[in-house]
Amino acid sequence: MKYCSYCGAKLSFKIPVGDDRQRFLCEACKTVHYQNPKMVVGCIPEWGDRILMCRRAIQPRHGRWTLPAGYLENGETVSEAAKREAFEEARARLENVTPYALFNLTFVNEVYLMFRANLVDTNFKPGEESLEVKLMVEDEIPWGHIAFPVIRETLVRYFKDRETGYFSFQMGNILRGR
Ligand SMILES: [Zn+2]
Repeated sequence: MKYCSYCGAKLSFKIPVGDDRQRFLCEACKTVHYQNPKMVVGCIPEWGDRILMCRRAIQPRHGRWTLPAGYLENGETVSEAAKREAFEEARARLENVTPYALFNLTFVNEVYLMFRANLVDTNFKPGEESLEVKLMVEDEIPWGHIAFPVIRETLVRYFKDRETGYFSFQMGNILRGR
């Protein structure tokens, strides 16, 4: 950040009085421009023993496989976001949206919240951001072509839990983007 989004003055980067870390600070209008992590919401859409995967039509990781996920919007609940992303990326409708896993990605200042959900039907098809969408059993998961470590970690934990037949809420830290 270089300029104040309120008054246009040049910003400084220093510790405000009473704070404990550097912030973008406008000396002209006294606004402190806090920067905090973003939340990404995604889901594992289930249909019997299969889950719905999407192949990315966009960068980064064009052509690689992922789960429907994206940034939470203002004014939106996290379960609404999970449903919206599944519809945008796979034209899929979800029900029984249940929280499953939370991951901290401090290296990009993001928090991922992943849900499990049931597909309402199989009338899905690729959305704008997907090349193809496909229901897969565990053996079909393209482990060497997963788009992001956080998605791989979600899937690993999911299939481990599914073996036991019991899903407990998962939490972890992802340390890198590749
Ligand atoms: Zn200002």
